[in-house]
Amino acid sequence: TNPLFDGLLAVGRRDPARRFAILPDGRSYSYQDVEAVSARFANALVDLGVQPGDRVAVQVEKSIEALMLYLGTVRAGGVFLPLNTAYTPAEIEYFLTDAGPRVFVCDPAKRNVLAPVAEQARAAIETLGVWSSPDISAGSLSDKALAAPPEFSTVARESGDLAAILYTSGTTGRSKGAMLTQDNLLSNAEVLREYWRFTDKDVLLHALPIFHTHGLFVASNTAMIAGGAMIFLPKFDVDEVFRFLPDATAMMGVPTFYTRLLADKRLTREATAHMRLFTSGSAPLLAETHKAFEERTGMRILERYGMTETNMSTSNPYEGERRAGTVGFPLPGVALRIVDADTGEPLPQGEIGVIEVKGPNVFAGYWQMPEKTAAEFRDDGFFITGDLGLIDADGYVTIVGRGKDLVISGGFNIYPKEVELALDELPGVVESAVIGVPHPDFGEGVIGVVVGAPDLKEEELTGALKERLARFKQPKRIVFVDELPRNTMGKVQKNVLRDRFATLLS
Ligand code: ATP
Ligand code: MG
Repeated sequence: TNPLFDGLLAVGRRDPARRFAILPDGRSYSYQDVEAVSARFANALVDLGVQPGDRVAVQVEKSIEALMLYLGTVRAGGVFLPLNTAYTPAEIEYFLTDAGPRVFVCDPAKRNVLAPVAEQARAAIETLGVWSSPDISAGSLSDKALAAPPEFSTVARESGDLAAILYTSGTTGRSKGAMLTQDNLLSNAEVLREYWRFTDKDVLLHALPIFHTHGLFVASNTAMIAGGAMIFLPKFDVDEVFRFLPDATAMMGVPTFYTRLLADKRLTREATAHMRLFTSGSAPLLAETHKAFEERTGMRILERYGMTETNMSTSNPYEGERRAGTVGFPLPGVALRIVDADTGEPLPQGEIGVIEVKGPNVFAGYWQMPEKTAAEFRDDGFFITGDLGLIDADGYVTIVGRGKDLVISGGFNIYPKEVELALDELPGVVESAVIGVPHPDFGEGVIGVVVGAPDLKEEELTGALKERLARFKQPKRIVFVDELPRNTMGKVQKNVLRDRFATLLS
């Protein structure tokens, strides 16, 4: 058996004609198509020499065929390794050299540029475009898949064998390859299906990228393991979301999806009345967005927390209170504790510390980084997430930021989120990011980077904060920008801001 593939397809196989995907070009995929197309890809990969444990690296635009390539890789016993479509050839060189894949699959248009990179990493280069109809190909791997038989005897794997390597988003430094086992992915999909009540009646509006854990595993695996269907959009586009919303029952998003929907008049109670679930994750959802969404639609967004390394670790409840500004409770099977960053000692309830998690969701280690892996695990098996948080009296977990974003100024700890919340409440402020930059006396000094009304003045904001925050937390400077630098998952890139404003206080 191949636990992951068999597990994901268990419900779909009971009724192969069942709808699996609805595509904006009018095509649809049944669960039978999933079997057949993933078999074609598995055959093509084996013909290319892919053996159990071999990595298959993929940088392609989102398409249902790319998702079938993921399943085909798992069926062939390979290790799927998706790469952000925004990565440049120089970045791809790092990933291919690091991961040593047998095959590298890219967009047909990038083949010429990437062929030398693949060659240097000794990976066979193949291309995959979007199939505009089930039997029209676009790319060399598509050709091979279409010529291959639609049956494949799935390669047996153990629960602990690798199914994927996903590189982290690189928000805090160089991306690391997280090794994910068959069981990491399968167990998390099972837990999310139960926790979020996914069934074969569900139709998930899928507008997330599939090179990241959120779109690839949280969204696709959860819908699939329930035997549900997905409306598979190539990207998040407000018009397309409103076009397909009437056919959906659930949507998963990053916070920017929700702020963009809120900016559109079409988001109404009527438009969402038939939906049973909206989830958010990958970056903090402002409590304000949560509230605004509820006011407009009557629905409370369900926020959850996870990482590439841990899959999903916490979630607000399906029934029960979805508390804005929190990420809910540890999921079933996940142990979560808050510890002192320096000593590793568990902290009393309510105190801020480092979040550590343990469970079947937690990855097997960083690819080819044994020291880094050892440093991020405690002796009792807990993984040190690097995120800071607290657990309130009711058991809800709140993330207060990343350990790496903590500002230490004159010996005091400043949690940027606290200052950001104070700034965001001021009139005219749309959003903010608080960072620490070198300061001649204090080591680091706090500065606020603000997006807001054009007539906002630095002195007004610093003046207003004097009443709200202790002196050591008050930003020494506030600067205005048109927008905060964000990556595709909506994460604010504080390292970019720290570089940009590095000399502001010196
Ligand atoms: P890198 O590890 O390379 O610096 P990254 O941590 O951004 O990048 P991901 O694994 O994509 O890479 O993101 C996981 C992180 O996203 C978590 O550690 C956490 O900081 C953040 N995150 C995820 N969900 C939430 C949430 N609901 N609220 C706040 N932060 C979240
Ligand atoms: Mg990380």
